[in-house]
Amino acid sequence: MKKVYKKKDSFLEKSFLNTVDSHLIKKIQDLRSNENQIKKFSNYELKIIDKAISDCDDQLLNKKSDFNIKNNSLAEIQTLPENKILDYLFHRYRYEIFPDKKITDNYPPLIQIEPSSVCNYRCVFCFMTDKKFSDKKSSHMGTMSLDFYKEIIDKIEDKVQFVTLASRGEPLVNKNLGQMLSYSKDKFLSLKINTNASLLNETNIHDILSNNVSTIVFSADAADKNLYEKLRVRGKFEKVIKNIKLFKDIKEKHYREQKIITRVSGVKFSKDQKFTDMDNFWKEYVDQIAFVDYNPWENSYEKAPNNINEACSDLWRRMFVWWDGKVNPCDVDYKSELLLGNIRDYKINEIWRSKKYELLRFKHLNKNRQQVKPCASCYVT
Ligand code: SF4
Repeated sequence: MKKVYKKKDSFLEKSFLNTVDSHLIKKIQDLRSNENQIKKFSNYELKIIDKAISDCDDQLLNKKSDFNIKNNSLAEIQTLPENKILDYLFHRYRYEIFPDKKITDNYPPLIQIEPSSVCNYRCVFCFMTDKKFSDKKSSHMGTMSLDFYKEIIDKIEDKVQFVTLASRGEPLVNKNLGQMLSYSKDKFLSLKINTNASLLNETNIHDILSNNVSTIVFSADAADKNLYEKLRVRGKFEKVIKNIKLFKDIKEKHYREQKIITRVSGVKFSKDQKFTDMDNFWKEYVDQIAFVDYNPWENSYEKAPNNINEACSDLWRRMFVWWDGKVNPCDVDYKSELLLGNIRDYKINEIWRSKKYELLRFKHLNKNRQQVKPCASCYVT
């Protein structure tokens, strides 16, 4: 059977405490009926919000619907003030449903910005194991300057609402991360950081907590030292636990009102990894625990073509901006053969709707992804 990596459902197993209930949907409906809440929206936006609300109604009645609020979105909604909930619904619908229906409007639903392509780990399933990529002297390696980061934030503010600070490297390698977070504070509905947690310290924990980051994801794939260190090569299990515990302690001591969501997320790579072990071990430290499916990121350019011809949904979901400004449609293509341009030279919508991007989407839609490298050997749909 052809293996496919369904990007939309990449959580294989998860343990999130909250569930969607009728009170939340009623609250959303009340907001929609309030003139003051909706006057800022265009007709286009209201139409999408209405469709999302109607689908949520169906979700409560256990009817089939395009869109539903999943536990992770619900947790994010609970971090927002009331006057941002309808905005969130609009952007979440774009994030969840546009890639399904292959709809493109002016801006990507999500942008991933890479503070650094350098990583201190060499995880077995990661492209960092490709020495031509991760060698210190490789042109792919570097960290983003603070001024350039600010330029990017100015370009995307009020246009893109979901931002993740992470892509190919470890974000905490960038010494300016604190100032970057301070510049991004309260500019987006969701600001997420993915980190291996090895470089957390008191200073950067305060930076993260004081600047209203919405979600922090600690990447860890096991509940015991041997397995963790086998997968997360160069990682030290005790250090990671100590750092995640420090994060929790500082949050509880100084930021009790801070609504940040904490998650331990692992890549399900080997049969030795058991979700119940993960859940039992990590639930003391974080709000959410999850396993995502393994995708062979580590050898994107060496695999044989696979005959998958379903379009890759990421072409309608997110866009990546790397430390040097290169814009890429994904990080499976970590050496940027699909390069779309440099963000220094364009506005966001000029790249998102560029001829090059549209041609790539067109090839995927017309079942011609086999003509494109590395899409021809990639499993993402
Ligand atoms: S390589 Fe192609 S198919 Fe794979 S994630 Fe990137 S754009 Fe999608």
